Amino acid sequence: MCNYIVVSGGVISGVGKGVTTASIGKILKEYGYKVTAVKIDPYINYDAGTLRPTEHGEVWVTDDGGEIDQDLGNYERFLDEDIPKKNCLTTGQIYKTVIDKERGGEYLGKTVQFIPHITDEIKKRIKDAADNFDFCLVEIGGTIGDFENIPFLFAVKSLEREIGKKNLIHVLVTYLPTPPHIQEMKTKPTQQAIRMLSENGIFPDFIICRSKKALDNVRKKKIETYVNIGAEHVISEPDIDTIYRIPLDLEKENFGLKILKKFDLKPKKKPDFEEWGRLVDKIVNPAKKIKIAIVGKYINIGDYELTDSYLSINEALKHSGAGLDVGIEIKWIDSKIFEKDKNELKILKNYRGIIIPGGFGSSGVEGKIMAIEFARKNDIPFLGLCYGLQLAVIEFARNVCGMEGANTTEVDERVKYPVIDILPTQKKLMEENRYGATMRLGEYAAILKDDSQVLRLYEETNRLKEDNERLSELKKDDGQSFRLGILENKKIILERHRHRYEVNPEYISKIEEKGLVFSGYHIRKDKQKLMEFIELPNHKFFIGTQGHPEFKSRLTKPAPLFYGFVKACCK
Ligand code: GLN
Repeated sequence: MCNYIVVSGGVISGVGKGVTTASIGKILKEYGYKVTAVKIDPYINYDAGTLRPTEHGEVWVTDDGGEIDQDLGNYERFLDEDIPKKNCLTTGQIYKTVIDKERGGEYLGKTVQFIPHITDEIKKRIKDAADNFDFCLVEIGGTIGDFENIPFLFAVKSLEREIGKKNLIHVLVTYLPTPPHIQEMKTKPTQQAIRMLSENGIFPDFIICRSKKALDNVRKKKIETYVNIGAEHVISEPDIDTIYRIPLDLEKENFGLKILKKFDLKPKKKPDFEEWGRLVDKIVNPAKKIKIAIVGKYINIGDYELTDSYLSINEALKHSGAGLDVGIEIKWIDSKIFEKDKNELKILKNYRGIIIPGGFGSSGVEGKIMAIEFARKNDIPFLGLCYGLQLAVIEFARNVCGMEGANTTEVDERVKYPVIDILPTQKKLMEENRYGATMRLGEYAAILKDDSQVLRLYEETNRLKEDNERLSELKKDDGQSFRLGILENKKIILERHRHRYEVNPEYISKIEEKGLVFSGYHIRKDKQKLMEFIELPNHKFFIGTQGHPEFKSRLTKPAPLFYGFVKACCK
């Protein structure tokens, strides 16, 4: 039977409940256990696909095509496991399922109610995700006291009753503020969070105290008496230099062994944090530092910049930096400044490399194209991600192939040279307004060209080999076989996607004639080829991908293209 660790948050949101959950998972995995994690999002949206990233952070994409809350990204990065979309539950999904069942007559005339029907559906989904694992972490989004949390708290309470207290524990991640005008760390909000949790019949087994500085004994004691748990169950988690240090810090308090003891379990193996610890040190104290620019459309909420919308790119750069012993300072540049004044482009000379991230719509597009042209002409390393690839193709078509005004039909439907377009099969679905169905979502196989730079990078980072092991797994799953398409007997890799438009097949040979290499492609079951990678020979580094390699990057396994890009930036 699976053991459950339910993680909820107190006081305020944004204190790092997600990375704490991920860190607990990492620790238990190090002790030799099979671990997975579930995220509960109490909003009504069915998934994160329609959420604006500036409001809710990045949309995370899973292998099986889920558009999910970014916390799942942290789980994957820390656990080094691919987590499927079913591991993200929203209120919208739960209610939709229950109402669909009711309409289908499945409740046989019964009154359908919050308890037990909604809570049963929640429990069913949690248990389903936990199947075949030793531990399942369940993170409840939001903060204790939110109305929207209540169904989920009821459900985990009911799960606890069903499987027994010895198979489920509660962890409360809370925050202890130190108001600047009194300079004293306050426990009161935490006490209130504990009280609110107990109103739902839930008593935390561990309290993780987030704060600016480590908790002193006076405050530990206060919390201990208030909750009536042993001091060893109050864990201090002060602010740190990098999130990747959290598992190491929690282990300093023997958190892993304490959790195992609660479940009456013993370590299955001796944990080995050496490699992880070495990389954490490289993140914090790299041998050298470089600056790179990410040119996108931005990202201001009131007075705050929300770089969370590109979280995975940040993390992927960190992973590659740690592997190469270089610290990367990222500067976010709003592409619109180039549209207003061309002279601004020269600021790009101050950076060792330029990334154009994914995006949608027409805003800021011309500025991004200008930045790509600047990178190409000045031999500055360039990495284009999804929209970044598409815009690089547009730039090349316009400025090298003489296709004046070339564009994507996403920006200009009647353009003379639609080098990026919706393919005919997708157009049909669009006309029927089935937008979701027109997206290419999740993992797809790409065939890499012999002798390409891209192939070399996938070989150098060992990903080619790993992806081939995964490929044989994927072949067994009939329902997912469309992700493979037609596999020629060649070098295959797998990356995640989230886009609607493609390089227009009609222009490929004209563009290739002028020197841009399409170094990888997917072949759909209907034999349609979709371009996956571009590269320019004779350039320090000029590579674009239709996928989102940032989603598969892990601290111990940097994504090949990011690795190659950072390496080129260092030269
Ligand atoms: N807007 C482009 C498309 O839909 C690119 C999407 C992206 O960058 N994720 O094809």
